[in-house]
Amino acid sequence: MKVVRGISELRLDGEVGLVPTMGALHAGHISLFDAARAENDVVVASLFVNPAQFGEQSDLARYPRDEARDLELAEQAGVDVLFAPTIEEMYPTGFATWVDAEETGAEGGARPGHFRGVATVCLKLFNIVHPTRAYFGQKDAQQTIVVRRLVRDLNLGVDVRVLATVRDEDGLALSSRNALLTPAERERALGLPRALTKAAASADPVAAARAELNGLDPDYVELLDLDGATLLAAAVRVGSIRLIDNVLVKGALA
Ligand code: AMP
Repeated sequence: MKVVRGISELRLDGEVGLVPTMGALHAGHISLFDAARAENDVVVASLFVNPAQFGEQSDLARYPRDEARDLELAEQAGVDVLFAPTIEEMYPTGFATWVDAEETGAEGGARPGHFRGVATVCLKLFNIVHPTRAYFGQKDAQQTIVVRRLVRDLNLGVDVRVLATVRDEDGLALSSRNALLTPAERERALGLPRALTKAAASADPVAAARAELNGLDPDYVELLDLDGATLLAAAVRVGSIRLIDNVLVKGALA
């Protein structure tokens, strides 16, 4: 695996699969690497904790980072190129152009500016890597909606592939932020996937999820349309950690 820090050092041939990540890799990321490995000549993973998509600076400061471990995991998963730029490489002095993503749902409402940062960094990564396909997780459902919209609206010609959420045995969706939960908080966090799973089969999934989430105080509960599939999505706060999750209510991932 080649580790590339500079944009000008990236030279890729053939069909390229790109997996954008913020590191602290777990089995959810690995599932995206595996899918990219199966469908492309070259697999590029990016490792960049994008400051532009963080609202709270405290969240950015404590975001888990372990580059040495990430390099090992990415290499084991068959990643060919790990693109790990500095902040200065991605946002040099004078940077002043942003993608104004408008279809951002309740998640965007709860995190002003978040999807502007996401859409901007994705457009930059697509222009830097020129992937044939880019891989995203269903776990960040609104993100996949924003990225598919970006690709359509700006004619980017990238095939955006969305893969099912990988969960721990107890049902909690894997997330880099899970490492920040205390054991007691982790136990409470299980209420999120349990509520969504139970509510998905009900006639009014949003109301049912709100009732099931008792005590978890959701930022929102909403139904999302992801290219014809209906998802029941919610965000909750457990202690100082914000967790999101969603389950399929109807249809299938495209
Ligand atoms: P992140 O490093 O958190 O920005 O995530 C990088 C990519 O991995 C995003 O497309 C996420 O949606 C995806 N991802 C995160 N958690 C999971 C999971 N539990 N299962 C599948 N994909 C995931």
